[in-house]
Amino acid sequence: ASEAKDYDVIFIGGGVAGYVGAIKAGQEGLKTACIEKRGMLGGTCLNVGCIPSKSLLNNSHLYHQILHDTKKRGIDVGDVKLNLKQMMKAKDESVAGLTKGVEFLFKKNGVDYIKGAGAFVNEHEVAVNLVDGGQTQIKGKNIVIATGSETTPFPGLTIDEKKVITSTGAIALEQVPKRMVVIGGGIIGLEMASVWSRLGSDVTVVEFLGQIGGPGMDADIAKQAHKILAKQGIKFKLGTKVTKGDASGDIVKLDVEAAKGGKQETLEAEVVLCAIGRRPYHEGLGLENIGVEVDERKRIVIDQEYRTNIPHIRVVGDCTFGPMLAHKAEEEAVAVVEFIKHGTGHVNYGAIPSVMYTHPEVAWVGQNEKELKDAGIKYNVGSFPFTANSRAKTNLDTDGMVKFLSDAETDRILGVHIIGANAGEMIAEGTLALEYGASSEDVARTCHAHPTLAEAFKEAAMATYSKAIHF
Ligand code: FAD
Ligand code: NAD
Repeated sequence: ASEAKDYDVIFIGGGVAGYVGAIKAGQEGLKTACIEKRGMLGGTCLNVGCIPSKSLLNNSHLYHQILHDTKKRGIDVGDVKLNLKQMMKAKDESVAGLTKGVEFLFKKNGVDYIKGAGAFVNEHEVAVNLVDGGQTQIKGKNIVIATGSETTPFPGLTIDEKKVITSTGAIALEQVPKRMVVIGGGIIGLEMASVWSRLGSDVTVVEFLGQIGGPGMDADIAKQAHKILAKQGIKFKLGTKVTKGDASGDIVKLDVEAAKGGKQETLEAEVVLCAIGRRPYHEGLGLENIGVEVDERKRIVIDQEYRTNIPHIRVVGDCTFGPMLAHKAEEEAVAVVEFIKHGTGHVNYGAIPSVMYTHPEVAWVGQNEKELKDAGIKYNVGSFPFTANSRAKTNLDTDGMVKFLSDAETDRILGVHIIGANAGEMIAEGTLALEYGASSEDVARTCHAHPTLAEAFKEAAMATYSKAIHF
């Protein structure tokens, strides 16, 4: 047999964490390989996550708006029809363009793309079962695990991606289900509930907690989001747990009851979406062969420099600690290469934004009120509603608000929370402010163009230490 090819760094997994790291490593002059078993680069995010879901969110929003929100704008439209096949095709084209783009970037930066499933043979060597058949073996001075995450299954319900689906099925349904029940009112649940409700499905979201939005979302904002999404037609059962599921017939039946016990009922739907969270994925990687430590929640254990207990094997992205977000994975990927090449790297985990791409969008960065209270930090609150913002008024899109939380003593910004159209773009300014340690007064004294939604951001900052002008 021929000798295994030698690399400075091997990335196992070609998702956002793996592909970004591989490109960065190539740019740093490291001899780099990236192993991906899916047959496509981009991982969950590009293939079945961020990108396809945003395509469907954007186009279902347009459809819904054309159906329900044009008359008052002076636009009379004729017969509006949904062409779901074409909507899915548009999504697939966006995905294909982006994944091909990553392949091009690999070539440009001298990264070897190895299509197959990698598994550790020993601490330095990885065997790859190639997608096109056969096997190869490569050797790395450094190996970075970036194998991502998978849907947490719901006990008792078998996923078939037709009647009982994960987000992967939810971005590929061939027809609009008459009724859909979503288990879990977190980000996936609410984004997918929005898509299918806008396209005509009767959607019910069952959420265990008393609040939607999953971990991190500020309670005030979550309450507003709940109200607005309910007005759009999504039904909610909060503080409710699913106790049993039966998918044996054409209709899926779910027994639900109040989370605290008590009232019970059976929900029926053509399609049930399981969206109760995701868990790290590293099946078949052979971690046990080399003794890499994994915790009780399947996260691969690392130190501050992303090193496992075997120091030249590091981990980034969804398969280790922290929020399961593409941009978090991307930051870690760059940092891990900097550690490998230069010995230093940095990610500010206190300034990672979160965005829910419903309409209106919800976005936040930093701490929420509950987290500040729990930490005993004294803070000021400043908020500004979009109803008082001139651009939102001209857009006839005034749902939502901006909310600032800043240190009561120093005025340093501790958190920014937005619900409103374009919140996902606007949060970048909050993230920059947080990263630079700005005070709310720093933001309020920065000139913002008129008329823009960003003026609501400035005025909320102003309201934190003084008074807003327009409210
Ligand atoms: P992944 O993207 O999961 O990539 C891991 C890759 O490793 C996979 O392609 C897998 O095939 C490969 N792999 C696994 N094992 C092996 C092996 N042994 N050998 C070779 N290859 C292997 N995040 C956001 O920030 N914004 C969003 O809008 C957003 N929307 C989302 C919507 C949905 C429906 C979902 C499910 C997720 C969404 N996320 C979003 C989360 C985001 O997709 C993840 O945080 C991100 O993909 C993590 O990147 P990763 O590289 O760590 O893992
Ligand atoms: P999540 O953790 O955001 O939400 C899961 C929700 O399900 C929680 O609210 C939880 O209370 C609820 N839940 C758990 N068990 C339940 C049960 N038995 N019955 C009813 N409700 C239950 O997880 P998710 O929405 O599945 O998303 C997974 C990951 O993907 C998250 O880390 C998320 O950040 C990421 N993601 C991000 C985006 C984005 O950035 N726009 C979009 C999609 C997914």
